[in-house]
Amino acid sequence: MIIAVDGPTASGKGTISKELAKYFALPFLDTGLLYRAVGWTVSEQGGDADHAADALAACVFDSSLLDNPGLRSEAVGGLASRVSVHPEVRRALDKRQKDFAYQPAGAVLDGRDIGTVIAPDADVKLFVTASPEARAVRRFEEMKRRGEQVGLEDILAEILQRDERDKNRTTAPLKAAEDADLLDTTNLTIDAAVQQAIAMVNAKISGRRDKDPA
Ligand code: C5P
Repeated sequence: MIIAVDGPTASGKGTISKELAKYFALPFLDTGLLYRAVGWTVSEQGGDADHAADALAACVFDSSLLDNPGLRSEAVGGLASRVSVHPEVRRALDKRQKDFAYQPAGAVLDGRDIGTVIAPDADVKLFVTASPEARAVRRFEEMKRRGEQVGLEDILAEILQRDERDKNRTTAPLKAAEDADLLDTTNLTIDAAVQQAIAMVNAKISGRRDKDPA
């Protein structure tokens, strides 16, 4: 079974995906980390994230980089969003994601274009959203816990900018697949959101079994 989870930043999709992977015993890939690794590498190489050739050169990185906690920072998220605009970069990361999605054991992947581009025939597609304000508060609390000091207004501005870039790029923009189920987490605790996601996956699977009882 392939479960595709897409949605904007701080919507809860990361935690939801991880918990779905645990619950359904499936391998999990956070595809945002790949773009973050490219953003990190372009900066290490002194390149320009907005320059396609520099960003493409940064697509060759050691897999151990994916374990670097530095990739999780807001700054690297911004760089990831900039390098992910280039079709060359998306192509370079395409095979790795598709191989993961279509491995025999099945998979859960979270990202922006999993249900639309990477695994368009995924068994279950969830599009996780929340209002920009709710997402900004979550990110703010998360950063406060990590001891990072950033104002809520700045975080909201960064989130809106990232949404804008992700939704309006020409290649693989952030959007719900036509056959995705929407999960709005604005007024849900993360535990409630996870429970709802599990229920949505179970409903999808049993609906499919009813239609195709082979
Ligand atoms: O999900 P995360 O915040 O780690 O993603 C960082 C950035 O990487 C996103 O803002 C988006 O621009 C890009 N990304 C993407 N396609 C994916 C995953 C992430 O374009 N499948």
